[in-house]
Amino acid sequence: MKTYLVTGGAGFIGANFVKYMLKKYDDIKIIILDKLTYAGNLGTIKEELKDKRVEFVKGDIGNRELVENIFMQHNIDYVVNFAAESHVDRSIENPKIFLETNILGTQNLLDISKQHWIIGKDENGYPTYKEGKKFLQVSTDEVYGFLNREYPDGKLLIDNGQLTVDNGLKIEELKKVLEDREVMPKIFGEKFFTEETALNPRSPYATSKTAADMLTRAYSETYHMPINVTRCSNNYGPYHFPEKLIPLIIKNILEGKKLPVYGDGKQVRDWLYVEDHCKGIDMVINGGKLGEAYNIGGFNEEQNINIVKLTIDTIRKLIIDNGQLAIKEEYKNIVKCNLNDISYDLITYVQDRLGHDARYAIDPSKTVRELGFYPETPFNIGIEKTIKWYLNNQDWVNEVVSGDYQKYYEKMY
Ligand code: NAD
Repeated sequence: MKTYLVTGGAGFIGANFVKYMLKKYDDIKIIILDKLTYAGNLGTIKEELKDKRVEFVKGDIGNRELVENIFMQHNIDYVVNFAAESHVDRSIENPKIFLETNILGTQNLLDISKQHWIIGKDENGYPTYKEGKKFLQVSTDEVYGFLNREYPDGKLLIDNGQLTVDNGLKIEELKKVLEDREVMPKIFGEKFFTEETALNPRSPYATSKTAADMLTRAYSETYHMPINVTRCSNNYGPYHFPEKLIPLIIKNILEGKKLPVYGDGKQVRDWLYVEDHCKGIDMVINGGKLGEAYNIGGFNEEQNINIVKLTIDTIRKLIIDNGQLAIKEEYKNIVKCNLNDISYDLITYVQDRLGHDARYAIDPSKTVRELGFYPETPFNIGIEKTIKWYLNNQDWVNEVVSGDYQKYYEKMY
């Protein structure tokens, strides 16, 4: 039986990961360590907390004594570090907590894992470790900096039946990944981030995550510690805190509120359905070569403005009773505006984010090639699943949109 220490397991991706792992494996134990900041919510994992295989510890990853105690009480095999301050806008307002949690917190976890996993030294003086241990640092594509947008409107990846891009993506593997997609992904430039791309973070958030990413790899180089780093693109899906783009616009649309879009809205991000990300992390834990970083991407580049428009269109499609040209009965108490108000007129352009990166695009072909990873969920399917989840889980949304978040929201918009 393997024991996982999942930090940040009450947050968006961490909670989805806990759910994914409990469903996939019977014989595991998961210790969740979470400080329950504004972004952590026990309501997200209330079913999992009833599961005998799960134990929850409230606390800070930077708290040495607390983390020590967890290692003393449990035979931890894997540490999966999701815990982080994760919102770029907040890092622009107040960088300090980002450095404390994202850098020093990670260093604390690395140190204590190392100390508990070491069994001796090899002939060169490097530490040796118990079998089957691994520290996985969940990093981000934001560590790479940004790419220019070369095609303002994007072009389809497959053009006249031919792949038009050769950027290091392995074409045959890519074809396999994309073959059952009805809608082919668009690309907005020839360049992609690979694991070899030099790290060049630009926001305080990205800088703190880069420090943690590099520190984790430094523990591999310096102490031969068993680690992997995963760098993923923008996640979306259930349980996403409604300050991030997709859940924020879903919430605002349902309330008939304006939809704030930064700058010209043409920034390009790659979107990864959260369950696909969880699958990728599990693959890296099981098969990733020690010491290495793996990109996990969705093959779903899109401009922010198109994401907003697609979300408006999809919500209209899901809530409308076509026979009546009215809102379906089951959604009447959720939708707090008239059907006609749900239109592109809600979009309002606001001043661009400081240092806003133009394009992120991830090449996950190493992960495809070495581990058999592929993102199963095309964006049109993923967004529909996500919106349906939000429509049917408004209690969860109301629960998290209170207190701290409310004050922050009012200040920003
Ligand atoms: P989130 O903000 O939803 O969740 C973070 C969780 O960490 C929360 O439950 C919070 O309570 C907890 N936490 C914060 N500080 C802590 C501390 N000091 N000690 C213990 N727990 C603490 O974040 P998320 O979107 O789920 O992201 C998870 C990880 O994935 C982060 O490391 C983030 O940098 C990375 N990532 C996220 C995305 C994305 O699109 N969401 C993309 C790339 C990388």
